[in-house]
Amino acid sequence: MRSFNRRGWGRALLLMATVMAVVAVCLSGCGDDNGGNSGGGNNTVYTLQISTNPIGGGTVSRNPEKSTYTAGEQVTVTAQPASGYSFVVWSGVSTSASSSVTVTMNANLVLTANFQQQSVTSPDDSLSHTHTWGNWVVTTPATCETAGVETRTCTLDASHKETRAIPQLTGTACNSGGGESYEFVVIGGRKWMKKNLNIETADSWCYRNSPDNCAKYGRLYTWTAAKTACPNGWHLPSGYEWDQLAESVGGTKSFYAGTKYYWLGAGKKLKSKSGWKENGNGTDNYGFSALPGGNRNSDGSFHNEGYYGNWWTDTEDTSGYIPYRTMGCDEDDVFEFYRDKTDGSSVRCVQN
Ligand SMILES: [Zn+2]
Repeated sequence: MRSFNRRGWGRALLLMATVMAVVAVCLSGCGDDNGGNSGGGNNTVYTLQISTNPIGGGTVSRNPEKSTYTAGEQVTVTAQPASGYSFVVWSGVSTSASSSVTVTMNANLVLTANFQQQSVTSPDDSLSHTHTWGNWVVTTPATCETAGVETRTCTLDASHKETRAIPQLTGTACNSGGGESYEFVVIGGRKWMKKNLNIETADSWCYRNSPDNCAKYGRLYTWTAAKTACPNGWHLPSGYEWDQLAESVGGTKSFYAGTKYYWLGAGKKLKSKSGWKENGNGTDNYGFSALPGGNRNSDGSFHNEGYYGNWWTDTEDTSGYIPYRTMGCDEDDVFEFYRDKTDGSSVRCVQN
């Protein structure tokens, strides 16, 4: 596949301090809630019914603020958590995890802002110093069933600790049962799932249609399927987010063939310590554990399992082809290549 082999190049590897944390996310197939009744006509007006859960967990503002809206009118709705609460996710006509969403009034719509109570316990504040807090570290991951806990420690006295709740995971990803846990790592300030996505959707396959390969490598998705495969609160990474990942682990962005990029040395650090053929394993310095899941061509044939891993970006090139990122057993770098959107590649989700 590759017309070059970069094994053996000298590399200056920058080690960057990276905070890692682990949490579990419950995932499963997705369905959409759709509130309201459809209607039409230029003179039609619709209502937007908003509630909060729990009552008192926060407030919601809408812009413009009106009792009825004309068909097609757009309304931006913003959730503001009350003190001691955090916003989690919308339910109803939107299932976004963003606290501000814009809805189009094409029916009478119902929207609920879901908040989660936070609890923070702080040590005695009558001490002789002002606490200097380190980073929050997840001690108990949140799941679909329970809230989690994270803790941070005072750098001046390690016995000073502060804890707070991580909201229980809610939304489509948790609602339909049969969930699978996905741990994540924080690399370069972003939360990346530690393994490839394995949620069955239309236009996704196990390598050679073997469930064992899905368990090991996740599914191979067409680009269109990949765009919406990540669960609520997560998304298919942009090319830029992939760039930041590779650069955060010390991969120097470089050119090949005049126009395309690769990230020198990043593959070695992101690849798993086993599972790559031809002694192509990585050092997995950050827990990203990239595996060579191969790819599916649009003719239904499967290729490169054990040799190459391929991950979609969400970015469509003007050519109609999609830039993706790839790592191989015969190279230590991360490469950008382009692929037809009907091919099947792996998906690694990043948190919104
Ligand atoms: Zn302290």
